[in-house]
Amino acid sequence: MNKRPRILILGGTGEAISLTTEAATRFDIVYSLAGRTINPALPEGVTVRSGGFGGPDALAAWINQNHIAAVIDATHPFADRIAAHAVQACADAEVPRLKLLRTAWEQTAGDAWHRVADIAAAASLLPTLGTRAFLSVGRQELGAFSDVAGVALVIRSIDPPDATDRLKGAVYIAGRGPFTTAQESALLREHDIDVLVSKNAGGAATYPKIAAARAAGIPVIMIDRPPPQPSPIVSDVTAAVAWLDRLGG
Ligand code: NAP
Repeated sequence: MNKRPRILILGGTGEAISLTTEAATRFDIVYSLAGRTINPALPEGVTVRSGGFGGPDALAAWINQNHIAAVIDATHPFADRIAAHAVQACADAEVPRLKLLRTAWEQTAGDAWHRVADIAAAASLLPTLGTRAFLSVGRQELGAFSDVAGVALVIRSIDPPDATDRLKGAVYIAGRGPFTTAQESALLREHDIDVLVSKNAGGAATYPKIAAARAAGIPVIMIDRPPPQPSPIVSDVTAAVAWLDRLGG
């Protein structure tokens, strides 16, 4: 019989996969995805489930039914709905929850950042800063840019947006990080980009576009993160594994 504590890891990020891989030697891991990416990166040798739970009450019920001992929310810093649901569900189900939240990027010398609160504010500001924009904000919220006039858009996402969500006249590029600064610099040059729009995702995998914009003297519209979830929060995989080991011990 499998006596290892069963842990739910809410995933969809590189560090969620690293955490799962490290923790799987001592814990029975269920790795959960929203199910939006066609061919997602997956950890090996663990149970993978895909698709929403149906809200916080359903998540709490799922946690109980599946005898989950603890939950680590290792979702993207901008995935604030599932993060809030995890907080509520874990409180209701009375299981410990940890947020693994990578550190946000900081502006450094040579950067020309214009910080905005959300994607709508990014779209409003865009025409004042350039005429050829590189959008690296995922594909879920592209509609915010549908009324932007006078700016050519080059949009990169892992999977292409559905035909109905495509913005007229935009150029679409498929790509999954990590990218190098050389690759990102070449992309900015190739498309003659004069402004970059990015979420403040943090982490190394997608930072090279920020470094490339700095090197090229291109302004960046940096979308701030939604407010963080309550403690406990750790910023790296090692600390998350230590939290699990304390629980397991
Ligand atoms: P979100 O807005 O916070 O969540 C929307 C709904 O999707 C949630 O209410 C939940 O449905 C479901 N969901 C989200 N993550 C899930 C998970 N790991 N397992 C099961 N259900 C999940 O999420 P999002 O921003 O769309 O992100 C979706 C996924 O993409 C996450 O796994 C995230 O880590 C990843 N991702 C997001 C971004 C980004 O910029 N937002 C970037 C890279 C990767 P129910 O309410 O039905 O449970």
